[in-house]
This record gives sequence, structure tokens and C-alpha cells, in this order.
Amino acid sequence: MKANRIHNFNPGPAALPLSVLEEIRDSFLNYKGSGMSIVEVSHRSKWFDDVINDARYRVKRLLGLSDDYHVLFMQGGASMQFCMAPMNLIPEGRPADYVNTGTWSTKAIHEARLQGKKINVVASSEDRGFCYIPRNISFTENAAYAHLTSNNTIKGTQWASFPDTGQVPIVCDMSSDIMSRPIDPAPFGLMYAGAQKNIGPAGVTLVIIRDDMVKRSPENLPAMLNYSTFSAKNSMFNTPPCLAIYACRLVLKWLEETIGGLDKMESINHKKAAILYDAIDGNEFYRGTAEKESRSMMNITFRLPSEDLELEFVAQALDNGLGGLKGHRSVGGCRASIYNATGLDAVHALVEFMKEFAEKKG
Ligand SMILES: *Cc1c(COP(=O)(O)O)cnc(C)c1O
Repeated sequence: MKANRIHNFNPGPAALPLSVLEEIRDSFLNYKGSGMSIVEVSHRSKWFDDVINDARYRVKRLLGLSDDYHVLFMQGGASMQFCMAPMNLIPEGRPADYVNTGTWSTKAIHEARLQGKKINVVASSEDRGFCYIPRNISFTENAAYAHLTSNNTIKGTQWASFPDTGQVPIVCDMSSDIMSRPIDPAPFGLMYAGAQKNIGPAGVTLVIIRDDMVKRSPENLPAMLNYSTFSAKNSMFNTPPCLAIYACRLVLKWLEETIGGLDKMESINHKKAAILYDAIDGNEFYRGTAEKESRSMMNITFRLPSEDLELEFVAQALDNGLGGLKGHRSVGGCRASIYNATGLDAVHALVEFMKEFAEKKG
């Protein structure tokens, strides 16, 4: 542990690379010789222009996006995308398909229905407490889009591969696994992610939208709720969240230049998850809550023999420098969120602690 920092397993806001935090600190009072902090320069200045453009190009390079895609930085979190996607992308008279894989999908469906849109829930894993990813789904032929949640942060499940939606573009909430693995962008019309899980601090939402989807936005929407406002103005129709975008840009740079891209990131993430799941499966004291084939590489959810032991586990872990292991309040249990910036060293330390705890209490 450097600088008295704990091993951080927080679900979001979550760990960021130490080198990024240090760079923010070191350049905070005088950004690039401007004599000002990055939070003091104009968003119309060359300094900030360079930041937002570099962030945009890095997103495109990392995900292999063609020029058909707009990379936008918005506010309102992933939760605002739950209302914006249906508002902008469902033309009059057409339905949209949603797959319900947990708490966040349920909210997305609710927000779409509030607007009086015709929403088909074409598959759901609610019958077994969202512990799995549904298979063999039939999508509606004329659906405006098919909405998926790529990683279910609370339930600990993840789409290992995305379903074939035919001609229907995928709209995907990637809040908790964006940039954790390479993807084929082709089937995606819209991808969105609150930054605070895997790519930066809270306050900015990454929105990647295909040109044909932007063109669907009705003209009578309020400017701030219209995707085309943001694509036309390089995300600067109004003042953007400058500090959050700057921090994301540094995380993206770390991903490209220190990690070496998303293939490398994915193999590290696979390794981290495998070590943790092996520790859970190899000891009767622990029980994974997600079906094996549907397990998340990002949020590892597990139970102990009793709720009392779970409380003790979380508290003692923190005493040992391992933070953020409490499960979401809606499901209880334990959860280790191992996003990109939580390293192998943290996972090894957790597995070691789990072994000791089980020996003492088992
Ligand atoms: C955290 C999370 C959200 C909510 O994000 P906000 O940015 O807080 O609105 C939505 N979807 C998923 C999958 C999440 O993990």
C-alpha cells in the first residue's frame, strides 16, 4: 500500500489508477504553465479543447470506433440515459425491446414506460433473482432498439457475449464494464456509461452514439435532453464537467499507454476474476451468488454462512486494508468490485484474507 491507500473494492465511485491521481495532484495548481488550475481555465480555451479532443480520440482508438460514431461527454449519470434513450431514439409508433437483467435494467424499463412508449420486455432473469443472463432471446423485428445492461453491478452477472439482435441496433448501459474488454462496435447504436465505475470520477457520462441514431432525435426536445445538441457542439453546448473529463482523459491515457489497450486489460481482468472465483469455489465457507456461466468479471458477489459473519467479514477486511466489500443494500452479502484500476495485488491480498477468515470462523 502506497501513501496509506487501501485496496479499494468500491462499487462506484471506485478506485482510479494511482498514477492518474498523482498526475492530477501534481498539475492541479498550474496546468501546463497556464498559471491556472484545470478547474480555472475556460472550457473555450485551447487547454481544455486539447483535453476533450484527446479524450474523444482515445475513446475511439481504444474501442476501435469508426467515424460513424460520436463520442459525447454528458451529465446526469447513466440514470439520465434511461430517459434520454427512449426520448430520442424511439420514433412514433415503434416499440423498443428491453432485456431485464437486474436493478439497473428495471429502472431503465420504468423510465422508458413513463414516457408512454411501447416497451417489450423480451427476456428477464427476474424469476431467479437475476442470478443469470437470459439466452435464446427473440427480438422484435421493427423494434427501435434492443436495450441491454452489459454488466449487472449489483447482481454480479455480465454478458460474456452479446446476443444477435439482427437488424435491431443495441442500446447498451455499459456503466460498470466499459473499457474492461474489447468489443465489436458494429451492432451498437448507443453505448453509455457513468464514468465513476471504470473510467473516471463521478460527474460525467460517456455516451457513444452512431450517426444514424443521432439523426432520430426529434427537434422539439429540450436542448439539454437532445443528443444532437451534444454531437453538434463537441459536448460543449454549455459548460461541461471539465475536471471529470480531464480525469477520464488521464485514465484513458493510462489504459492505452501503461496497460497497452483493451486486449491486455481484458486478460488482466480475466486473471483477477479467476483468482477470486477460484477462492470462492474452492472453499465451502463461501458461496457465489451468480450462475457460473453468467458471472461478472467486474463485480464478484458472494455469501458467507450467515449475515452476522458477513458483517464481521466486511469489518475485519477493512481493518486489514481491504475496503468496499459490502454487497449492495438491496441484496446484502458481499461484493468485490474489481474494475480496471483495482490491481492483481489487491486481489491477492483479498484472497489471502478470505482464506484466513474462513480458517478462523469455518
Ligand atoms: C451505477 C450504475 C448506474 C447508475 O449510474 P449513475 O451514473 O449513478 O446514474 C446505471 N447502470 C449501471 C449498470 C450501473 O452500474
